[in-house]
Amino acid sequence: MGLWFTEEASPHHLLQWKVKRLLFSGRSPYQTVEVVDTEQFGPSLVLDGIMQTTQGDEYIYHEMMAWVPLAAHPHPERALIIGGGDGGLAREVLASPAVKEVTMVEIDAMVIDVSKQFLASHTAAFADPRLQLVTADGMEYLADVEDYFDLILVDCTDPEGSGPGCVLYTEAFHRRVHKALKADGLFIQQSGSPTYNPEVLQAISADVTQQFPVCRVYWCVVPTYPGGLFTFTSGSKQYDLLDFTPVTVPHARWYTPDVHRAAFALPPVVAQHLPESVRTGQSTPL
Ligand code: SAM
Repeated sequence: MGLWFTEEASPHHLLQWKVKRLLFSGRSPYQTVEVVDTEQFGPSLVLDGIMQTTQGDEYIYHEMMAWVPLAAHPHPERALIIGGGDGGLAREVLASPAVKEVTMVEIDAMVIDVSKQFLASHTAAFADPRLQLVTADGMEYLADVEDYFDLILVDCTDPEGSGPGCVLYTEAFHRRVHKALKADGLFIQQSGSPTYNPEVLQAISADVTQQFPVCRVYWCVVPTYPGGLFTFTSGSKQYDLLDFTPVTVPHARWYTPDVHRAAFALPPVVAQHLPESVRTGQSTPL
C-alpha cells in the first residue's frame, strides 16, 4: 500500500498523493509544517495538512499571480509579497526587469528555512539583491506603510480555522493594503477554490469592490489544488488587469497574453459568487 498523504477537500472528498519520503515534519508557532516527496509532483510543502505548493506544478499559480499584474501595471517597480514563504512567487516577480525591489513579508521563518532546504527551484531568487525578506505578520507590517508600493501580492494560506491567513481576508487588512499602495497601485490575492470554498471568493470580492474602483477575478488550473480550478481576486486604484501590454515570458510554461485574457472569462457557476458590478465588469469584450 505504501505511504500516502491525504488532504480533505471537503468532508466528502479526499485527495491523496503517493509519498516516496517524508522530508520534514515540524511545528512552528503558527502551523504544522511538512515537506513530502510525492511520486507525482516531487517535493511539496504542506501547512496544517493542506497542500500549498509542489515542485511539479507550482509554476502555474506563480506565473499567473505574477505576470497578470506585471503586464497590466506600466511601472511595477516596488512589489510587496505577503506570505509566499516558499519563494516561488518572488522568483517569478523578480524575473521581470521592470521590478526594482521586492519586499516579502512571511510570518513563519520555518517555512522559509524548509523551502530553502527542500524546494530549491522555488527559492532560486532568494539571493537576488532586489529581494528583502521580512519575517512578520503582513497585517502588522502594513500598519505604518503608506503610498509606497505599486503591487501588493497576497500569497497566503487559506482563511481556515484560526490559521495566520485569516486576518488577511478582513476589511481592515484590505484598508491597509489600499493605504500602502500608490495612487495607481493594484493588489492581487489568492481567493481559493470556487468549487469547495465559494464563500472565500464571495467575501473577498464583495469587500474589495467596496474599497477599490476596479475589482476583477481571474482563474487558473492547479492540479494539486482541490478540483484544480483556482481563483485570484484583484483590487486596483486605476489600471484594469484586462487592459495590459502583452509581455512575452520566455521561461513561462503557463502564462501567455492569450492565457491572460482567457483567465478573465468566468463560467456562470463562478461568476454567480461575485457582486453584480464585478460580474458586469467581467463582460467587458475581450
Ligand atoms: N501558494 C499557496 C496557496 O495558494 O495556498 C500559498 C503558499 S505560501 C506557503 C503561504 C504562506 O502564507 C505561508 O508560508 C504562511 O506562513 C504565510 N502566511 C499566512 N498568514 C500570514 C500572515 N498573516 N502574514 C504573513 N504571512 C502569512
